[in-house]
Amino acid sequence: MTQIINNSIFALMKPNILQTPIDYLKGVGPSRAQLLRTELGIHTFQDLINLFPNRYIDKTRYYKIYELRPTSAEVQIVGKIVHLKTVEQKRGKRLVATFVDDTGQMELVWFRGHKWIRENLKLNTPYVIFGKTKYYNGYSMPHPEMELLSTHQQSLRITMQPVYPSTEKLSNKGVTNRVISKMMEALFTETQVKFMETLPVGILSDLHLISKSEAMFNVHFPKNQELLAKAQYRLKFEELFYIQLQLLIKKLVRKQKIKGFPFTEVGSYFNNFYSHHLPFELTNAQKRVIKEIRNDLGTSAQMNRLLQGDVGSGKTIVGLMAMLLAIDNGFQACIMAPTAILATQHFQGIQELVQDLDINVKLLMGSTTTKERRQIHEELEQGSLHILVGTHALLEDKVQFHNLGLAIIDEQHRFGVAQRAKLWHKNTYPPHILVMTATPIPRTLAMSVYGDLDISVIDELPPGRKSIKTVHRYDSNRLKVFKFIADEIKKGRQIYIVYPLIQESEAMDYKDLMDGYESIARYFPPPDYQISIVHGQMKPADKDYEMERFVKGQTQIMVATTVIEVGVNVPNASVMIIESAERFGLSQLHQLRGRVGRGAEQSYCILMTGHKLSEDSKTRLQTMVATNDGFEIAEVDLKLRGPGDIMGTQQSGVLNLKIADVVKDNEILKTARYYALQILKEDPALEKEQHAIVRYTYTQLGKHKNIWNYIS
Ligand code: ADP
Ligand code: MG
Repeated sequence: MTQIINNSIFALMKPNILQTPIDYLKGVGPSRAQLLRTELGIHTFQDLINLFPNRYIDKTRYYKIYELRPTSAEVQIVGKIVHLKTVEQKRGKRLVATFVDDTGQMELVWFRGHKWIRENLKLNTPYVIFGKTKYYNGYSMPHPEMELLSTHQQSLRITMQPVYPSTEKLSNKGVTNRVISKMMEALFTETQVKFMETLPVGILSDLHLISKSEAMFNVHFPKNQELLAKAQYRLKFEELFYIQLQLLIKKLVRKQKIKGFPFTEVGSYFNNFYSHHLPFELTNAQKRVIKEIRNDLGTSAQMNRLLQGDVGSGKTIVGLMAMLLAIDNGFQACIMAPTAILATQHFQGIQELVQDLDINVKLLMGSTTTKERRQIHEELEQGSLHILVGTHALLEDKVQFHNLGLAIIDEQHRFGVAQRAKLWHKNTYPPHILVMTATPIPRTLAMSVYGDLDISVIDELPPGRKSIKTVHRYDSNRLKVFKFIADEIKKGRQIYIVYPLIQESEAMDYKDLMDGYESIARYFPPPDYQISIVHGQMKPADKDYEMERFVKGQTQIMVATTVIEVGVNVPNASVMIIESAERFGLSQLHQLRGRVGRGAEQSYCILMTGHKLSEDSKTRLQTMVATNDGFEIAEVDLKLRGPGDIMGTQQSGVLNLKIADVVKDNEILKTARYYALQILKEDPALEKEQHAIVRYTYTQLGKHKNIWNYIS
């Protein structure tokens, strides 16, 4: 007897009940189970319970037939079927029911499943029907959802009806939303699932959150709007809280465990440069960021910092000063850029800045000659080379540093994580890492994706910059634009004209570019005008030659594909013309525009398009015309494209949220991060009694890689 009782109690409390394969749920069976697995990735009870509704239909309202209007969306009506008939048609049979309430009548129509309906429908019995209505010589509702009024009144789903994620295949095979709701109901009633609380009492009471069990129940079977809102808030908070906790713990662990070389000295290179060789006064933002970097480098933990700053905000000099700190402490530094043009420009810029400092700077790229390479390798290994600038070529196995202390990666979005990690393995300790990016990542997204990195932001442009005037012009106005170009050239300015380059249609893009080039060349003939052209199909040496001519001011117009997007600096260029601007994404448009506005003159950006524009294209163009602020642009971009597209698939794990949305639930995210931070500040190892629940949940999370997996 005791034995039996114990067993049954054990069975009830067994957390594994939720690991039961979905096949065993009432109303599922093998073929539906297979569909659920392939279509929605639902294998177990657990997976089903974590299928959260996309939206809810308000079934708090019942319509009367006389209230129907041709525009009525989905409605719910109580009434009876008084007559059922089959109507033969050329294209097949339909089953038509006459449905009445005390205010009128309408038709219910089925194009398939007649046999089942004929056998199961009860005439003259109150039903609740639900569906979209159509108006044609009276109202009809095709394939209504139906439920006996008596059953309806007893069911759990009385008011707010959830709409679950689904696929076409599922609904074609009869696994409709109603069927899924039924399954959910069976799951809750049969298993009587009780959810273990996962948040500490302190947070629950602080934020007036409802319990886990209450939230889970109400997210699937909301009694009313208010409880639904509370349930969603609670579950979103929980999801974001544990993600933030994870990111923050990762950061803590990195700071404690991953040792780096401490740069304790602020020595003569840094000080000398700062006092005597700064070509301009640093902006406050630059000073602040340098301080942040200095603090990092001074500790014995490895720095892993993301430096964000809009195009032209002056990230290079910040990077250089960090490198000087490395050299002051007897280490080498490197800076890696995504293109040869950009690497060359960094090299020239840095060389100029440190020319009086007795610092050995070299440039390494794919095109570097064997002889030069040999010398670079040698000096690198000896340690007499202080700063190595280059492209991907820096990652080659032959490149061995004597003691690399700091690696700077410019324009981070072009490098994968694996490539970044390669730099690490060149040393006993990993070098400090500074990643510089001009693609502003909206703060909310940065928090969830790079929550474990430190982030510095240069949010101030050097003084005296005139903001760039941006306009949108149609292709039909091209001659006016050409006239404007001619006027600017007369004033001594230089012009960029950029064409899209999309991999899939490279040949077509090439043709567009060449056609454009020809018409420009006709309008701007030599000897009065000189034109450079740069595109992806040219040899690197030719590209460099053309680029060089433009940089030196020997040509007035640069016709190019997006190869010039990243980092190129020609202060005298004051006009950026972007052809087929509708084909570019927002961040790319912003990057391109950043090529101008670097000198003292008023600069312009002209976005050329055809007349046919999608809504998204219009929004992008309007945003560009309205603002120069990279962060604002990034927020719009995030709304247009969603977080997954912006960050790429690489980080999608972090963003693969079940219920929260990093964009829409931005405020909840901030709150969640705040609480995660508070707890870790107070109790970094989560040892205190009041955090036991957090510790337990966090550990479970590590085991299952899914925060919804801990229920008992
Ligand atoms: P980015 O952040 O886009 O890499 P750069 O580092 O290339 O920007 O700087 C853009 C231009 O602004 C360069 O010509 C640089 O010399 C100049 N610059 C940077 N900081 C300042 C400053 N504090 N005052 C004046 N000019 C500056
Ligand atoms: Mg730069």
